[in-house]
Amino acid sequence: MPVSGAARRLPPWAAAFQEATAGFLRGGVRWHAPMDGYTTFKVGGPAEAIVLPRDRHELALLVQTLAAIKVPWLVLGRGSNVVIADEGLPGVVILFGRDFAKIELLAEEAESAVVRVEAGCALARLVGWAVKRGLAGLEFAAGIPGSVGGAIVMNAGAWKKEMKDLLVGVTVMDGQGAIMTRRLEEMHFAYRSWGEPRGTIALEGFFRLQKGDPLALKTICGEHRQRRKVLQPQHMASGGSFFKNPAGQKTAGQLIDAAGLKGRAVGGAMVSPVHANFIVNTGTATARDIMELMRMVQQVVLEKFGIALEPEVKILGMK
Ligand SMILES: Cc1cc2nc3c(=O)[nH]c(=O)nc-3n(C[C@H](O)[C@H](O)[C@H](O)COP(=O)(O)OP(=O)(O)OC[C@H]3O[C@@H](n4cnc5c(N)ncnc54)[C@H](O)[C@@H]3O)c2cc1C
Repeated sequence: MPVSGAARRLPPWAAAFQEATAGFLRGGVRWHAPMDGYTTFKVGGPAEAIVLPRDRHELALLVQTLAAIKVPWLVLGRGSNVVIADEGLPGVVILFGRDFAKIELLAEEAESAVVRVEAGCALARLVGWAVKRGLAGLEFAAGIPGSVGGAIVMNAGAWKKEMKDLLVGVTVMDGQGAIMTRRLEEMHFAYRSWGEPRGTIALEGFFRLQKGDPLALKTICGEHRQRRKVLQPQHMASGGSFFKNPAGQKTAGQLIDAAGLKGRAVGGAMVSPVHANFIVNTGTATARDIMELMRMVQQVVLEKFGIALEPEVKILGMK
């Protein structure tokens, strides 16, 4: 098993981990791995370890081992909806590499097709794949960064559509390594949530897509991407929309804008002047800056409008 990283920084559980995984872990381990390069916000201290399992069997043995030696873990997609603490993450960050990125046409009918997509596949690749084959439904996702797994877990959406509208089922692994495929009707998707218990891993999604015209689909995707370019600060590091839209007439962005907070900054973190629901990293932000700005925005919006904004981004590793 290849091991990289400064040996003197190995966490106290490293020896037990190495001994327990020596017989099965073919994917590499990166010790003390800075996480800022793994998130679109470009902040975050080191994870104690990053592991890329090669297949489901290895992943199952890995989560069982980590449970047995009591080491925390989480799965990260492309890090486009997270803020990772400056202090980093304890335990193991599990990443899905090329071995978890297949797209497969499972069944084709006159009007539609069912496609199986593994969690590590980039959402952009899936959208491009579907458009090329004239399979419609995922155009809303054109321009949303991230992995298919992350998009399922976050129930990512735009233009009044979301992942659950296309999904017919999801294969998941529980915290004990057991794998099961759940039909959409058995799941509890909600706004920016897939409703599964903590510690559940999305392994693959099954999507029903409708037959369409590739050229027309390409045009729609292009329009969506263009709208994003105009409406969002895409040239700056961010985690996308920071807060969930609250129930009611106004979006989080409209409330933050109406509170006069566009351009407000804490350290290197700033409420984007382009889109008020984007907190951007102007280049020097720390996770602490982002959190302080988040709390300030929440406080001002609560005082002015009586509305408690809830973060959409996942805040990882904060004490
Ligand atoms: C510029 C920009 C624009 C964006 N626009 C949109 C938008 O229009 N709509 C929208 O909904 N979102 C948007 N986002 C947010 C983000 O892209 C989506 O939520 C995306 O689906 C997250 O995927 P990811 O792979 O990056 O997930 P990550 O950020 O890596 O993870 C998100 C959460 O899911 C968990 N997770 C990831 N993969 C798995 C897995 N396989 N199993 C279990 N848990 C997992 C992580 O632990 C974390 O809690 C935007 C972000 C940016 C930066």
